[in-house]
Amino acid sequence: MRTQVGIVGAGPAGLLLSHLLHLEGIDSVVLELRSRDHVEQRVRAGVLEQGTVELLETAGVAGRLRREGMVHHGIELRFGGRRHRVPLTDLTGRSITIYGQQEVVKDLVRARLEAGGRVLFEVDGVRLQGVDTDRPAIRFRAGGQDQELHCDVVAGCDGFHGVCRDAVPEAARRVFERAYPFAWLGVLAAVAPSSEEIVYAASEHGFALHSMRSPTLTRLYLQVDPDEPVEAWPDGRIWEELQARLATDDGWTLDEGPILDKGVTGMRSFVVEPMRFGRLFLAGDAAHIVPPTGAKGMNLAVADVHVLAQALAAWYRTGAGDLLESWSATCLRRVWRAQDFSTWMTGLLHRSPDDDPFQLRLQRARLEYLARSEAAARSLAENYVGLQQV
Ligand SMILES: Cc1cc2nc3c(=O)[nH]c(=O)nc-3n(C[C@H](O)[C@H](O)[C@H](O)COP(=O)(O)OP(=O)(O)OC[C@H]3O[C@@H](n4cnc5c(N)ncnc54)[C@H](O)[C@@H]3O)c2cc1C
Repeated sequence: MRTQVGIVGAGPAGLLLSHLLHLEGIDSVVLELRSRDHVEQRVRAGVLEQGTVELLETAGVAGRLRREGMVHHGIELRFGGRRHRVPLTDLTGRSITIYGQQEVVKDLVRARLEAGGRVLFEVDGVRLQGVDTDRPAIRFRAGGQDQELHCDVVAGCDGFHGVCRDAVPEAARRVFERAYPFAWLGVLAAVAPSSEEIVYAASEHGFALHSMRSPTLTRLYLQVDPDEPVEAWPDGRIWEELQARLATDDGWTLDEGPILDKGVTGMRSFVVEPMRFGRLFLAGDAAHIVPPTGAKGMNLAVADVHVLAQALAAWYRTGAGDLLESWSATCLRRVWRAQDFSTWMTGLLHRSPDDDPFQLRLQRARLEYLARSEAAARSLAENYVGLQQV
């Protein structure tokens, strides 16, 4: 097989890149380990920055997002039994949209297939060859047969556990990493959201997040121990802990309902530099992971492939490689801004086992400052809705 851009991974990064390239008249093939059903059902992120929504709109894949997405103009910080709204739109002129990542993936898969795009699901044994030459290839197995895809460029969009990053020799990459002494237990519940906006709660029992996916689906998270098995969290214990962590002094109530999905996700920060090696470009979670507290992961993946599609379009059109040369550095500026914000939000809201009473007083002072100071709240809001220029 032959294509211009070989893409590994049909997550938001790989699918959107394939679609953006198609709009530029560039051919691509997407190779995905899992089934179509699996990638379309995987419950993950749900907060889209305004810039992400605008890009999907310009790319012609935001019809359902506009109809079903929930536009939010603020978020709530909750601590000490009190609620404090951060009015995102008043402070920045911008908003966020709640729309499940699996819905973005569904819309992109449909758009690719309707346009005759090649997305191969359930391929395994992906191996990259010759990425340091101008004739890279991807070997894989599909339908029980060994295959080879020849391309000009490879986009490694295969997430944190993918194989593309390993094609970069260790001497040619530098890794920056941080582990956190907690994980998130994520729950999808069949119950109407109890709050109109996302609630971030810092409590003495640890962090909790109340979010939503639709008028009838609530998404909730609890900070838990990093090695906690999901079996340790029967539904009754989850609701009890959520009730305790989200409780307020003003009579607010959390409605409970059947839990449809639950899973524990470890938390880490990770960046590989540079994001390019020869003809291999690592985009999205394949190149960087942020703790989910700042809701940045999917938005960063989208930003990476937006810049990459523009750079590849310029290269194919004129032969000029300067945008490809600067691609990694351009993306890393945004990645590190998001790392800083996500780490800061995580420290603001979570309890660490080694937090001493002094640290807890500092945390409370920061939360009080955000609740009282417009300048502090504006900084949070500007980062949360997504910086336009980084
Ligand atoms: C519980 C949870 C909550 C999150 N919440 C948020 C949030 O609120 N906001 C936000 O912005 N982000 C959030 N994120 C992060 C977000 O989901 C990721 O950043 C996003 O999925 C990155 O997209 P991606 O396309 O780079 O990678 P992925 O979505 O991981 O896609 C990679 C694809 O590659 C495939 N693949 C892997 N290995 C191979 C292989 N060897 N061969 C072929 N294909 C392969 C995978 O099956 C997958 O389909 C959250 C993540 C989790 C886990």
